[in-house]
Amino acid sequence: MDQAEAGIVMDRIEILAGFSEQPGRLTRRFASSAMRQAHEAVRTWACAAGMDVRQDSIGNLIARYEANRAGAKTLILGSHLDTVRDAGKYDGPLGILVALACVERLHARKEFLPFAIEIIAFADEEGLRYHTAYLGSKVVAGCFDTGYLALEDEEGIPMAEAIRAFGGDPEALLFEKRNAGDLLGYCEVHIEQGPVLESQNLPVGIVSAIAGQSRIAANFDGEAGHAGTLPMNRRRDALCAAAELILAVESLARDRTGLVATVGRISAEPGATNVVPGRASLSLDVRHQEDRLREDAVQRLRQKAEEICSARRISLGWRVLQEDGTVSCAPSLAGKLAQAIEALGHRAFYLPSGAGHDAVALAKLTQVGMLFVRCKGGISHNPAESVIPEDVALAIEALEHFLTLLASEI
Ligand SMILES: [Zn+2]
Repeated sequence: MDQAEAGIVMDRIEILAGFSEQPGRLTRRFASSAMRQAHEAVRTWACAAGMDVRQDSIGNLIARYEANRAGAKTLILGSHLDTVRDAGKYDGPLGILVALACVERLHARKEFLPFAIEIIAFADEEGLRYHTAYLGSKVVAGCFDTGYLALEDEEGIPMAEAIRAFGGDPEALLFEKRNAGDLLGYCEVHIEQGPVLESQNLPVGIVSAIAGQSRIAANFDGEAGHAGTLPMNRRRDALCAAAELILAVESLARDRTGLVATVGRISAEPGATNVVPGRASLSLDVRHQEDRLREDAVQRLRQKAEEICSARRISLGWRVLQEDGTVSCAPSLAGKLAQAIEALGHRAFYLPSGAGHDAVALAKLTQVGMLFVRCKGGISHNPAESVIPEDVALAIEALEHFLTLLASEI
């Protein structure tokens, strides 16, 4: 195992972590100047590895390593370069840099495979700037909704303008869709963002499926009133209704294996200490590996919300904002990842991903596979996010072996 290569990946992750919009913490949004700096660094490294590098019209950076023959298909590798606010540094860049380390090996040996490799550094996976996830991979997969272009960020900058300012072209987005027949598939290396591999004492694992998710906005409308004079039995307290639902969400998810459900945001209006809340809003995020069980959970929670509201004389608003079905990873790609891990003397362990990834969008275009790398303490979307160089070294070996197995079939 070559620890020096893993050391280079770790050093590059530190360099990319320095490209931030906020001093002292890592925040790198879609089409930002920090993203521009990250592009320049990745471009330099990829060019040195013999790759042709271009930026597409949404702002994905695409580095291509040619095949050893004309008319060959392309395997896409990669992950995203954008981050959440106050992010960890491995979520995204790890997948790009492990893929690059594999191409550097090929380049050093002057070796070409019977397929081309494209490493895509996706422009927006987290959705921090425009609150819509997978912008970069949706463009590549041909499922970008041009309605997004009018969305505005916190400063009122429409997405179309941000794309232009970054050197992209909002008019050309629909032409970026890749031809499925030219592709072998998509394989993404990513930090696990959970505690499973650590608890299994395993450095890497193969993703079986990416859990589907539902996102709902619920509004509770009651009646505001004076906190000192309105008797308890006359109140229509919207926040109390919301609070009851939050605990019902937790209790349902605890009762059902594999279900996770979260209320991550809540607000109360008018929001004063001496006023009974007349309106409350909350966000609900429900995920399960089996679509049927997720849909059933959402249905039950809606019923529960209706019961709570009718008992409290509150009116309920229930809006489904997003519904993504579970994405299964392709057995042929997962099987090769498993074979590669076993060849390196480790147990091939399959686990589902509770987090969404660019592979969700790419799955609409081509078959997908994912390799997870052990995450310290299961902590992610947090500056404390951490991986160890030994696991990175293994991920590089496993991905290279995977490429060899894929090549042997062609
Ligand atoms: Zn990620």
